[in-house]
Amino acid sequence: MTTFHIITLFPETMQAYLGASIIGRAQKEGHISIKYYNPRDFTDKANEVQTYSERRVDNKPYGGGPGMVIEAMPVIKAIEQALSIIPEQGNVRGKTKGKTKIIFFSPSGSQFTNEVAEKFKKYTDIIFICGRYEGIDARVKKAFPMVDISVGPYVLTGGELPAMIMIDSITRRIKGVLGDDLSIEEERVASPDVYTRPEVIEFNGKKYRVPKILLSGHHAKMDAWKANKKIKGSCV
Ligand code: SAM
Repeated sequence: MTTFHIITLFPETMQAYLGASIIGRAQKEGHISIKYYNPRDFTDKANEVQTYSERRVDNKPYGGGPGMVIEAMPVIKAIEQALSIIPEQGNVRGKTKGKTKIIFFSPSGSQFTNEVAEKFKKYTDIIFICGRYEGIDARVKKAFPMVDISVGPYVLTGGELPAMIMIDSITRRIKGVLGDDLSIEEERVASPDVYTRPEVIEFNGKKYRVPKILLSGHHAKMDAWKANKKIKGSCV
């Protein structure tokens, strides 16, 4: 079983997606488990102030510039909390042992790919650190060994989507999660264009048909057709 530990200021942005469909079922069936840690629970004032919004974890950046930076200590304490419940970690401060990996999200990190997902599926515990605003105080990266990952060459407002992308992509590769292991696209000929019943639909006076080749039952020809169905051109 793989446990995903998510350090986020906004767990509510993730729970609906991760609780539904294949990822939700993977949790119910015990293939994966998801745990949330909110840095706001680890501020100095966490015990005194009840309202979450009053438990500030961000501060002005040293060196100037716009936006706020998430302080290091609440995040470090959240990582420690996650590590403390991983059985094989023991009580080792500032280190990860065995099959535990810590991910720090950043638009300039190394690109997440299918190959990376395949490697990460071997870990029993993955800790995701989701940034917000201008990011997280970089000293967090010195306190524990971790890898910087980007989900693509664009800037998002937070690390929650990147964490969900990684969890989704890793989970569907775990044996038993997809009904049929052949469902993993990279291991079969898959097409970006797919069709289902009915064979003909009518819209605005025009008929749209399923390509004949897909009705032929000729598997080699259907695979060749699917392999050729690459999306061409630019989207802009
Ligand atoms: N100032 C940071 C920089 O220049 O690298 C970007 C901060 S971004 C607005 C806020 C957070 O969103 C980041 O700390 C990171 O956790 C997450 N994030 C944004 N884009 C991302 C991407 N492409 N891949 C992974 N994480 C991303």
